[in-house]
Amino acid sequence: MSVLIFIDHTSGMIKKASREAISYGAQLAAQLGTTAEGVLLGNVAEDLSALGQHGVQKVYHLQHTNLDHFDAQVYTKVLAQVADQTGAQVLVFSNNTSGKALAPALSVRLKAGLVSGAVSLPDTSNGFVVKKNVFSGKAFANVAVTTERKVIALNVNAFTITTGTGTAEVASLNVDVPAPKTRVISKDKSSGKVTLSEAEVVVSAGRGLKGPENWGIVEELATALDAALACSRPVADAHWRPHSEHVGQTGVAIAPNLYVAAGISGAIQHLAGVNRSKVIVVINKDPEAPFFKAADYGIVGDVFEILPKFTEAVKKV
Ligand code: FAD
Repeated sequence: MSVLIFIDHTSGMIKKASREAISYGAQLAAQLGTTAEGVLLGNVAEDLSALGQHGVQKVYHLQHTNLDHFDAQVYTKVLAQVADQTGAQVLVFSNNTSGKALAPALSVRLKAGLVSGAVSLPDTSNGFVVKKNVFSGKAFANVAVTTERKVIALNVNAFTITTGTGTAEVASLNVDVPAPKTRVISKDKSSGKVTLSEAEVVVSAGRGLKGPENWGIVEELATALDAALACSRPVADAHWRPHSEHVGQTGVAIAPNLYVAAGISGAIQHLAGVNRSKVIVVINKDPEAPFFKAADYGIVGDVFEILPKFTEAVKKV
């Protein structure tokens, strides 16, 4: 019996969301009086033993040409074998793009109860009750998992990364790796220097910017804050910005520490993807804009005046 954490990476670099999941899994294992083990599929550029600093005791590293690109079907079959061979009782994923594909598939395969969007460690005083986000982050539900095996997908940015001094043992396992049914032909890097779903700070703009030719002032603030760029849906629909930057109910869901929204009205569909941000700063010339109700800090003013001043102020810090 152990807690098994799926360690996700991009081009061999372990994602911040995975470090959160490892820290969560390690604390959960301590709570259950068991061991925390990680599993990483594919090639990696980092020293996996260093993941012991987040509390994991062992990391299974499986390499195979069929694991070089993320493939939900292949990864699910491999992870199910790892779970069986290691006797994992609880599987922990980050509720990011890969976790959203893998956690439900694994829960079906392992006949395990699933909680997606978990925000804290379970209450194990009377069963196994996990708190999760519901209604696009507007409410919480406490869900009792009644199966022996459990799968948890932890919301991104919901759990603090813990860093200690431990070292993890790195091991391998003998598993069948099926051939993928799809083939990656090419990969195109999306715009922006910082990955949107992983970003700590996001600068976002909407129709209030009037046109794509005005995005320079948004990009300058994003560069000064080392932030990822985002936009509202109409901006992407109008091809002012790429769809990969569109956040909201039908776009990317984000939970950065700081979300700066310039010239965005704050429609419910937009808020659905950004309301888990820790601090929201809204800049809008209309004091009645609905976004101000969700804002921690609001600036009533013209984006064309405020954004350059904001950038200047950040550069001075
Ligand atoms: P607008 O609503 O036009 O607002 C522009 C804002 O800019 C206004 O508040 C205005 O006061 C302000 N402004 C104008 N000029 C200035 C200036 N000079 N200085 C400062 N402020 C200024 N939207 C999303 O964003 N994401 C989604 O995922 C999404 N999914 C949707 C799904 C469905 C099914 C539907 C029906 C809609 C969805 N929408 C989504 C669209 C959403 O309802 C809104 O229409 C959209 O978010 C509005 O974008 P906006 O705020 O950029 O534009």
